[in-house]
Order: sequence, then C-alpha cells, then structure tokens
Amino acid sequence: MCGIVGYIGRQNAFPILTKGLHRLEYRGYDSAGVALLNQENELNIYKVKGRVSDLELFCEGKDISGHAGIAHTRWATHGEPNQANAHPHYSQSESLALIHNGIIENYTVLKTGLMQKGYTFQSETDTEVLVQLIEYIKTGNNVDIITAVRLALKQVVGAYAIAIIERQNPEFIIVARKSSPLVVGIGKDEFFIASDASPIIDHTDKVIYLEDEEIAVIHRDKAPQVLSLANVEKTPQTIQLEVSLSELEKGEYPHFMLKEIFEQPQTLRDCMRGRVNIDCNNLTLSGIIDHKERFLKARRIIILACGTSWHAGLIGEYLLEEFCRIPVEVEYSSEFRYRNPVIYPDDIVIAISQSGETADTLAAIELAKKAGAFVYGICNVVGSSIPRNTNSGSYTHVGVEIGVASTKAFTAQVLVLIMMAINIGKEKNTIPNEQYEHILSELNQIPEKIEAILEQNIIIEDLSKTFTYAHNFIYMGRGYSYPIAMEGALKLKEISYIHAEGYPAAEMKHGPIALIDQDMPVIVIATHDGTYEKMISNIQEIKARNGRILAIVNQSDNKVKNIADYVIEIPNTAECLSPLLSIIPLQLLSYHIAVKKGRDVDMPRNLAKSVTVE
Ligand code: GLU
Repeated sequence: MCGIVGYIGRQNAFPILTKGLHRLEYRGYDSAGVALLNQENELNIYKVKGRVSDLELFCEGKDISGHAGIAHTRWATHGEPNQANAHPHYSQSESLALIHNGIIENYTVLKTGLMQKGYTFQSETDTEVLVQLIEYIKTGNNVDIITAVRLALKQVVGAYAIAIIERQNPEFIIVARKSSPLVVGIGKDEFFIASDASPIIDHTDKVIYLEDEEIAVIHRDKAPQVLSLANVEKTPQTIQLEVSLSELEKGEYPHFMLKEIFEQPQTLRDCMRGRVNIDCNNLTLSGIIDHKERFLKARRIIILACGTSWHAGLIGEYLLEEFCRIPVEVEYSSEFRYRNPVIYPDDIVIAISQSGETADTLAAIELAKKAGAFVYGICNVVGSSIPRNTNSGSYTHVGVEIGVASTKAFTAQVLVLIMMAINIGKEKNTIPNEQYEHILSELNQIPEKIEAILEQNIIIEDLSKTFTYAHNFIYMGRGYSYPIAMEGALKLKEISYIHAEGYPAAEMKHGPIALIDQDMPVIVIATHDGTYEKMISNIQEIKARNGRILAIVNQSDNKVKNIADYVIEIPNTAECLSPLLSIIPLQLLSYHIAVKKGRDVDMPRNLAKSVTVE
C-alpha cells in the first residue's frame, strides 16, 4: 500500500526521491523516510512520522548528498506510525538499508531465530526482520548481496515489494517483488524505481514491470539484470507508458477528488471510445467478442471485488441478470478466497479493481483459475497484475486516480459492466433490439447529463452546510439505486469520518428505521424507475418519524419534491444507466461535507489508495 521510490544515476538523488514521494503520497502517508548513499560511501537514513513535507523539513541542514537512494511513505501494518517504525530500516551493521511494501507473514519466527543469534531490533515492523535476515545470510554464508537477498526471500512467506541499497556497493540498488507492484524506469545512464509509474513519468516513459518472485539489480550504467528466486536469468520486457503529467497535477482544483469528480464526463467518453459506435447503433467490447463462445455458454457469473469496486459489482449483478439472463453472484474477494467456494469450469469470474493490484482479488482470481473458470478483469491501471493474470478484460481508461476515495474509476467500472451486459445480451438475443438501441442512445448522452449535474456544484456545496452537524447518515435506494446508496454512504465515511450506512429502502422496516429521528439525515435516491411508487411509501415512513430527507430525484419528478426537505435534481435516463447520474451528487455532497469539516479529503486518515495487503 505504501509508496516506494528509488534512484541511481548521476543527479542528486534527494530531490528526485522526495518529488517521487509526493507523487506517491496517496498510497500511504503515515510516515516517510529516505536512505542516501553518497560518494564517501556514507549511507544516511532520515525518517519521520508524518508526511513527505515533514521529511523535507527534517532534512534541512543535513547531509543529503548522494547519487543513489531509496525512499518510502508508509501505511503501517506492523507497529504504530512513529519514527522508529518508519522505513528505510538499517541492518544491524548499518551497511544495508531497506524499504518494503507488504507484509512478511512469518516475521515472528524469523525474528526469534535472529534474536537468538544476537540480532537486536530498533522497530516493531516485520520489515526490519527482512533486512537483518539478508545481512545474516550474507555474512554467515559469505555470499554476495544479490545471493543473500535471493536466499532470504526464499525463506519469506508473505507479500513484498522491496528496494535495498548497500554501503559497499554504490553502483547498484536491488529490488524484488511478490504480490506487490514494482516498476523500474529506464533513463539515460540513470534508473528510477517506484511502486507505480506516477513518479517515473517525470523522467522517462520507458519502464519494466517486475513479475512476481523476480529480483532485479539496477546498475547505474547498464541495463537491469533480472533473475528469478531460483536464480534463472530473465529477459525483461520494456513497456512504453501512456500517462500524461497533467493527470498527476491538481491544476485549478483544490483537491484531486474534486478534479476527478469533474473529469467524469470526459473519462466516460474515453471509456466508451472505440467501443460504442452510435452512428452504427453498435457496441462491442473486444474482450467479450474475442471469447464470445465462452460467454454464450456461461453457466454463472461470479463478480469478485472489494470496497467501491464491490458496489460496482452489485450494479453489474442487476445488469447482467436483466440483459443476459445469466445468474450472477457478487462476492467480497476476501471472503471468497478463504471459504472453499464452489467454482465450475464453465463459470465466468469478473474481477474488478481500480489499481489492478488488490491483494485479495488477485488471490481469489488464482483460485478461480485453478478451478478452470474464465477470468475477466475490469481494471484501470494498464499493465497491472490483474490484467496480466486474467484471460480477458476491459480497461476503464480513466487515467490516474489519485484521490483515495474512488469516483471516476467507479463510474467507469459501472459503464464497463453496462457495456458488457448489453454486448453479451445482444449476442445471446436476450435483450430486445428496441431496448438495445434505446440504451445506446441514452448512453451517448450520459457525459452531457453529468455535466448538467456538475453545474449544480455550488447548490450542493450550500446544501452540505446543512448536514455538517450530523454524526450518522442513512442512505436508501431500491434496484439499481441500492448499490448507489451503499456507495454514497461509503464516500461519506471515507472522507468525512461520519458514520453512514446504505440500505435497500424496504429493509428499513426490518431494523434501521429505529434509528430515525429529527437529527438523522436520510439520503434517498428516488429516480423514476420500476420501484418509484414503493420508494415514495418508504419516504413517507421516514417523514412520519421526523427524519430529515434529502432526495435525489429526476427533473420530471413531482411527488417526492413535495415530501422531501431538500432535493437535488438529475436528468432522466434509462433505468439501468441511472447509477451513472445518481452517484454524482452524492460524491459532491460527501466532498463538500468533508471539506466543511476540515478533513484531508485526498488523504483521509487510515486509508491508502491501492490495497496491496490482504
Ligand atoms: N509491513 C510494513 C510495515 O508495517 C510495510 C507497510 C507498508 O506497505 O507501508 O512497516
């Protein structure tokens, strides 16, 4: 989950490393640190609790020379966020420094063994065990550092992306990965290391993605040497990055989250480009058409995801059952992987993850593949682990998403699921032609309709002031709006730290209605669909108990407006497309409430962007 940056070349490493850490700060931000190797062969480590800017302050006036170095922003798993637990960690003799993303699961056994051999520890982390183990193997077996890293990693159970620098060897940095991403950027006589490509594109667009259980030795002057844990030389593939720098800057916006909310008309256009052809009344996803037979004979679809992607998956269930008549189950990847699930070889598994690195989803995919299921990935980060480990898939193409609370990635995941459902439905003849054409023409108008909702930003900001007092929120919806109720509640929790729950409206009577009083804001999504009238009854029930209702309604609505305390209007659209519109005001509402409460919207406490630990 953390940010890893490394540099080896002829420039001063420190500014490159700290700039890289700023780019990666969204991945983890409870502490930050840097190790620099200078020409006098001094290996200096500086680290602090807090943000990258705190690290920069701490380093003022210190020796920050060096043309090679590694740096880290942490998302603590073992040991509280404090200076001692921050990375990099020295080995006992202080000749090695190491940074790590992930979890060393067998660290207690390894630590006990090392303590018996006289090793002492400065931190509570699992990471420090690894650097000590490498040193122990190196000195005890009298082997070189590369061999020592390889042998140590063979003893490790868990997930890691690591970078190691050795005082005696200023000419290279060693990196390795298992279940956590690691990218090497190739410059001219200089190399960059990072846990994702965002710090690298400032310098080069040529990268190598390390594969699982690979070690790479990054020399200053020659091409990286890649080998497997079994010591077999590998030939890495160089890839051209297609990320633009403007994607990594906030521009005129105060937060990345707001920028990303406002990007949605464009990101959805990008997601449809080359897939929806409105002139020919046609929609094709190549990932489906290339494996058409597999989809036509699918016995069942299982959707695997976590967090916001899981909410997109729930919408996918409604879509795929409605238009393809294939039974669908939606599962949390973390539950699926540990519960010995029944998987048939003619099942299709759809794995959804923004980062393409979600640890639980990756593990669940492996399980599905072993059982012979066909796995389809819906991811945003091109070249990430899920697309590389699935049979087929579709990218969401929304560009880099930096705000920790997902917005534009969510709407594009829903859009891909909509396109999948009507593409498969068309091939299976389970969707009437007329409906197919109607959805396509409505789909084409979605970006403009989102633009119209975004124009109400000021009104929503104003409305948000009404709700900053609340400690709890309830969100309600039915049908396609039920997952939106859950996603709206999650957005609010993530960035404002206000407790919120999303419910199917009819479930209120089975318990949650007991919570309703004049202090409880209830957000209802009451757009025109098959359950509109039912929804009105549910709203009346809330009103009768003095709940404060904010309703998301269609422009044509004339009933809910008379009951609700506040309303936000959104344009009408086809029922199955309504999630793409109804989530927008909820994203804005959460954003403004969080800003009013003084929260750090882009880096909310305890969270990190890509969840690469299970
Ligand atoms: N498990 C390590 C720690 O707690 C690494 C966490 C991370 O990925 O930032 O320090």
